[in-house]
Amino acid sequence: MSLQSFRAKQIFKWLHREGCRSFDEMTDLSKQLRKDLNDNFFIPSCEIEKKFVSSIDGTVKYLFRLYDGEFIESVIMKYKYGYTICVSSQVGCKMGCTFCASTLAGFKRNLTSGEIESQIHIAQQDLNIRISHIVMMGIGEPLDNYDNVLGFLENVNNENGLNIGMRNITVSTCGIVDKIYDLMERDLQLTLTVSLHAPNDNIRSKTMPINKRYPIDQLMKACRDYADKTGRRVSFEYTLIKGVNDSEENAKELADRLKGSLSHVNLIPVNDVAERGNMRSTHESVLKFCNMLKSNGINATIRRTLGADINASCGQLRAVRLSEES
Ligand code: SAH
Repeated sequence: MSLQSFRAKQIFKWLHREGCRSFDEMTDLSKQLRKDLNDNFFIPSCEIEKKFVSSIDGTVKYLFRLYDGEFIESVIMKYKYGYTICVSSQVGCKMGCTFCASTLAGFKRNLTSGEIESQIHIAQQDLNIRISHIVMMGIGEPLDNYDNVLGFLENVNNENGLNIGMRNITVSTCGIVDKIYDLMERDLQLTLTVSLHAPNDNIRSKTMPINKRYPIDQLMKACRDYADKTGRRVSFEYTLIKGVNDSEENAKELADRLKGSLSHVNLIPVNDVAERGNMRSTHESVLKFCNMLKSNGINATIRRTLGADINASCGQLRAVRLSEES
């Protein structure tokens, strides 16, 4: 098919700004062109399979069905500064972290850039809102689907698309060091956050298999290099699991590791995942952990829990849905 170049911009806007799910909606294209597009291309979007609205805080969680019958999840949270969406980047996950629901049923496939983006359009259309912030903390490991995630970031950032600023986008990784360096070379202004969850290799390797490939020292060096090159502080996620990584000694060891680097630690009491058997740390030990970090000069906050009544943490809905099927 050969088209005049201005058509590219028109079609881009329909797909990426308006979030059209069919070529028939592209009303400034001729009928013939819409037919040609229909005959030659396919828009892989997703459909709402289930929707849950938290009665506590209005957080909305979607279970989306993809064109091939697979399921993914997204969560929309309302903050003072606007709406944030947490998107999935893969169907399932290969990483095998012991506390996480996303990895339970294994890995099925990568999402395309368009499938990642369509989670935003469908939520915006369904809720009649504008989403201003994106966090890549849904199902999947974004840096394990590097090319499609990069394509997604470029498209949502494009001024003819959703035009969401890089500074409003957070990419979370379990620590695939090679890809952190690849991302560093792109010099994007997004926020990189690393799921650390342990102060040493011994604990981390037990809970996060990726640590056997990229031990903590390598990971921390990559984070420092990333911050030096991009000028963007890397932040860390630390999920507290009772008796595993939540002692004051663990906090002290973590503080010693992070000392001297500009970093921020987000503490998250682990969400119960029935199949995982992990226990949430007590409120008291979460506070103690946080205070130990702060008194050692490390910036730390305790993550507010949203959507606690709707299984809003990643992978929980897909896991439930798959167990209903089996
Ligand atoms: N794969 C990426 C992004 C997805 S997970 C990553 O590992 O960062 C988003 C965050 O939720 C990660 O920090 C992850 O470790 C954390 N997480 C997973 N399961 C959790 C649970 N049961 N309770 C609390 N946090 C969890």
